[in-house]
Amino acid sequence: MKARHTSETPTAPRDWRARAACREAEPDLFFPDEAGHRATRQVEAAKRICAGCEVRVVCLDEAVTDREPYGVWGGLDEFERQALLAGIAVADLSKAAGQ
Ligand code: SF4
Repeated sequence: MKARHTSETPTAPRDWRARAACREAEPDLFFPDEAGHRATRQVEAAKRICAGCEVRVVCLDEAVTDREPYGVWGGLDEFERQALLAGIAVADLSKAAGQ
């Protein structure tokens, strides 16, 4: 199964998905079913994939614009995106979470 980020056909205007680093990744990494240590490891793995993704900026921009409620998009999880929208620096959020 492919990650949700690539579920659409690679045609305009969202053809950036065709270049997504998560195209062949396990969807559970980006959308863990439940909270806990396993989910934390999955999200960390997803963020490592995003770190090397050539379309990270457009992916994050779309997720923030569309107010994606769940999952890792553009290297940020839903809590980090909410913080971004609220004007809280992600670095401050990570510091507060002890990361
Ligand atoms: S930034 Fe992450 S979630 Fe977005 S397309 Fe790339 S790998 Fe997938």
